[in-house]
Amino acid sequence: MLRNAWRVVVGLALAALAGGAGAQDFPKRPITIVVPFAAGGPTDTVARLVAQAMTADLQQPVLVENVAGSGGTVGAARVASAPADGYTLLLHHIGLASAPSLYRKLPFDPQRDFAPIGLVTEVPMMIVARKDFPAQDARDLVAYVKGNRDKVALAHAGLGSASHLCGMLFMTALGTELTTVPYQGTGPAMDDLVAKEVDLLCDQTTNTSAPIRAGKIRVYAVTVPERIPSLPKVPTLREAGMEGADVAVWHGLYAPAGTPAAVVGRLATALQVALADRTVEARFARLGGTPVAAAQATPEALAARLRQQIELWRPIIREAGVYAD
Ligand code: ASP
Repeated sequence: MLRNAWRVVVGLALAALAGGAGAQDFPKRPITIVVPFAAGGPTDTVARLVAQAMTADLQQPVLVENVAGSGGTVGAARVASAPADGYTLLLHHIGLASAPSLYRKLPFDPQRDFAPIGLVTEVPMMIVARKDFPAQDARDLVAYVKGNRDKVALAHAGLGSASHLCGMLFMTALGTELTTVPYQGTGPAMDDLVAKEVDLLCDQTTNTSAPIRAGKIRVYAVTVPERIPSLPKVPTLREAGMEGADVAVWHGLYAPAGTPAAVVGRLATALQVALADRTVEARFARLGGTPVAAAQATPEALAARLRQQIELWRPIIREAGVYAD
């Protein structure tokens, strides 16, 4: 009897050492995933799909909160300074890797201030325009934009957002500068594109697919080397004769740095379960996205991707000479 009691005490002590206090019964209350862009956009769509599936595995509500502003840096800063207990998470994209090169004064360090949980999805982007934009196809687009640069307004989700990075590559590839119009996210930017208030947008397929299918916007090209199965008629940038503007968006899920390893591990498991869900997979496929394999939905894989992408974007942004502040 006494021996068993000691076993329990020793077991609990070891578990606490390995994972930090409270990890065994995590989560005990709802979890919030902060999306650093407006509701209704592509990052929001990814977060809501994943949150719903994680709720089932964690047996606690996983909620989504939109904290938009400054190309995603406001929401990221919020999570960087949140309690490191696993109840406030960040779902961000490629923008977390470009932010340190774009912002000279950043209120967080992406590698120091977050505990990566796992990669989430890979999503291509598409160059789209308002329905009545004069260019008929991608080749027309190049000629039209070069000849009418003063008339073309390019929407994006703030400096450092994926739509901004894609727009920047597009303008560099064409050797031209356009008027840019920043939004709190590409949800509202897409609304204005459909309403013909702006001309062009480069956005994730998770946001462009529905209005393309509904015939509400024009599409020119997809920003990855291969056409995508969900919209196979859309040519690649390369087919359209545009080199140098390829960009694929990856999403990651993060907790604040200092979150106990066992809590991060539990969240990574829930993420892996969510991404393996057939319904989630099918819904992503229809939107042109691919949930990552379980081996990628891990802290190690996300840390490696973040490091590699910070290095990748630094020289590109330096060469473009753009700063957000
Ligand atoms: N797609 C946006 C971006 O350009 C963000 C969003 O609204 O999800 O980064």
